[in-house]
Amino acid sequence: MLPIVEVEHVFKSFGSTRVLEDVSFSVNPGSVVAIIGRSGSGKSTALRCIDRLEIVDSGRIRVGEHEVTSPGLNLHQLRRDVGIVFQSYNLFPHLTVEENIMLAPRLVQKTSRDAARQNAAKVLAQVGLAEKATCYPSQLSGGQQQRVAIARSLAMAPQLMLFDEVTSALDPQLTGEVLRVMEGLAQDGMTMILVTHEMAFARKVADEVIFMHQGRVWERGPAAMLDAPTTPELRDFIGNGL
Ligand code: ADP
Ligand code: MG
Repeated sequence: MLPIVEVEHVFKSFGSTRVLEDVSFSVNPGSVVAIIGRSGSGKSTALRCIDRLEIVDSGRIRVGEHEVTSPGLNLHQLRRDVGIVFQSYNLFPHLTVEENIMLAPRLVQKTSRDAARQNAAKVLAQVGLAEKATCYPSQLSGGQQQRVAIARSLAMAPQLMLFDEVTSALDPQLTGEVLRVMEGLAQDGMTMILVTHEMAFARKVADEVIFMHQGRVWERGPAAMLDAPTTPELRDFIGNGL
């Protein structure tokens, strides 16, 4: 199977700080890859390089037909095909839930208002918030707002979804509802790369786990590797939690 994402020998520094060191991995269509590791190990940077929110120093990244690290990249088309959700949801407070979701399809894809609204209803149903279309973000819980942010990404029909610690700001009860939405997406065959501290979730949903340490892919394998870490660093990370 041709991977949908290929990351090959990526290096990235900020000033004199090397953040990614020879990072390589690939992601098959329809699979879920969880990236774990301590704070500062380069997880977010790796994710951001895939969406070209950061530019690599060297190495190659391909996403579908997009050569992300090539000067000829069409950034708009890449961003259309890759959805990214962060810890902060960044919904527009003055727009309703459905208006938030309709915005990118309307502006970027020039979708008609009716089609965009219908599509918003569809993706809202996917995240279990069909009845919240006309609410404002401030009327929703943090978990609901995060689910709207996910729906907003889904509205662009991405080929790949990137999630960066999307539940870190939520209390445990609200975390569960967001994780269930992500699990549903995985079951529907969405290709996903997620940075997460939720080990139980990674175990359950991830086809592959990548443990990053000091900017490197330190250990990678099926989720079962979490039960039998081979490096002391992963053993230590799992043992001590965060
Ligand atoms: P993680 O997501 O695993 O916590 P990050 O990728 O956010 O790690 O950060 C890795 C390292 O890169 C950290 O030391 C962080 O301080 C540094 N870093 C991240 N982004 C920047 C930036 N824009 N400028 C300078 N240093 C950065
Ligand atoms: Mg991070």
